[in-house]
Amino acid sequence: MTAPQPHCPSYYAATRNDDSVYAPLAGEERVDVCVIGGGFTGVATALTLAERGYRVSLLEQNRIGWGASGRNGGQLIGGMSGERGLLGHWGPAIADTLFELGYRGHDIIAGRVAKYAIECDLKYGYMDVALRPRQLRDQQAWYDDLCSRGMEQQVRLVQPGELAGLIGTDRYLGGLINNRNGHLHPLNLCLGEARAAAALGVSIHEGTAVTEIVHGSRPVVVSPGGRVTADFVVLAGNAYHRLEPKSLSGLIFPAGSFIIGTEPLSEDEAAAINPLDLAVCDQNEVLDYFRLSADRRMLFGGRCNYSGREPRSIEASMLPRLRRIFPQLADKRIEYAWGGKIGIVPNRVPLLGRVDHNIFYSMGYSGHGVNMTHVCGEIMADAIAGTFERMDVFAAVPHRRIPMGQWFGNQLVAMGMLYYRLKDML
Ligand SMILES: Cc1cc2nc3c(=O)[nH]c(=O)nc-3n(C[C@H](O)[C@H](O)[C@H](O)COP(=O)(O)OP(=O)(O)OC[C@H]3O[C@@H](n4cnc5c(N)ncnc54)[C@H](O)[C@@H]3O)c2cc1C
Repeated sequence: MTAPQPHCPSYYAATRNDDSVYAPLAGEERVDVCVIGGGFTGVATALTLAERGYRVSLLEQNRIGWGASGRNGGQLIGGMSGERGLLGHWGPAIADTLFELGYRGHDIIAGRVAKYAIECDLKYGYMDVALRPRQLRDQQAWYDDLCSRGMEQQVRLVQPGELAGLIGTDRYLGGLINNRNGHLHPLNLCLGEARAAAALGVSIHEGTAVTEIVHGSRPVVVSPGGRVTADFVVLAGNAYHRLEPKSLSGLIFPAGSFIIGTEPLSEDEAAAINPLDLAVCDQNEVLDYFRLSADRRMLFGGRCNYSGREPRSIEASMLPRLRRIFPQLADKRIEYAWGGKIGIVPNRVPLLGRVDHNIFYSMGYSGHGVNMTHVCGEIMADAIAGTFERMDVFAAVPHRRIPMGQWFGNQLVAMGMLYYRLKDML
């Protein structure tokens, strides 16, 4: 058993505003629901359940927000991964439901930030940027679709020639601004939601690695220091998940994504490269994303690594990408460099379902999880209350299990991603 790990040394960990420490599980607990994993999925599920009056234990092997939730780009983006697969399975009639689900997380987050006074630098303003003519055509189609869904006040196609003034680079051909999307400090959001859950009575335990779940009419969740007996269990370990291998191995694979943070820019420098303070994401499958932090650092992320291994130097591997887009930042000191694991599902459809009638799971948002984790927390809470409608939107979609995925899965995903990289080049 490995010792619990601290938050990774990121910009977020250095600027977290909540020092709560939750004691490891010691002894026996008896609750309605035991949630395993203290990222957005687990915390959002626990908080939703607590708001509805359930008794909940939340077990995290390291610290709350230790995984992808406390390390990500902080981009709050509508939609979800796997929409094509979902549409393929259900047909066009599901499109309205997917659209609603794709923005439901935004409402949950905004509601919680206001209700629980969570300081997490939540701001609205986001832009997709196109690198190829094909992507410009996609932008036009998205724009038309969003307008037809009543978002014409929130979206805008950026005119050619206007773009350089908005993000200080001539690297892109066009942009689609969506002011319903935005950005935030993910670790402070996760810690704030955990604090709200604890205040509502959720029994949170950090440093508590779950090693086994004993199935039964009342499953027992086992960790070295204690056991939780519950009516329901929710698995929320995402890319770090290892439990229930008989049902879940070979379905989700960890991919590394990496972020560097510069020293703070001056007000003039920030105004020259991002006067509207937008979060920005390119439209490649293997993409770059960037935004300014609240203290005006350039947080620049991307470079997915499907081998599951971290590069020897994150800074050295990310810096050329940053400089290609923003040569004017070439002399800025890099003060932070970190990475985390994204849970990739081969067909990109989030993995929601049950391994037993009272053991649920929600994971695998393929890098698009700030909003979806919050929706899924609500979907998990609904399922525990006996309403499966929204869970089945995802659970009914078949997933191909990669045999011996623990050994070969990442190589296969890497080969699949080679295809997407080639597609990006066309
Ligand atoms: C670098 C990076 C950048 C990203 N950028 C964005 C972005 O800008 N926008 C966006 O929408 N998405 C982004 N994502 C994806 C997003 O962060 C994830 O989809 C989301 O955070 C997943 O949340 P989660 O709670 O399911 O998983 P995690 O946050 O990874 O949490 C899982 C937790 O489960 C715990 N755990 C696992 N097994 C056990 C066990 N046996 N016992 C106890 N605890 C256990 C782990 O320790 C971990 O803390 C990014 C991801 C990364 C890595």
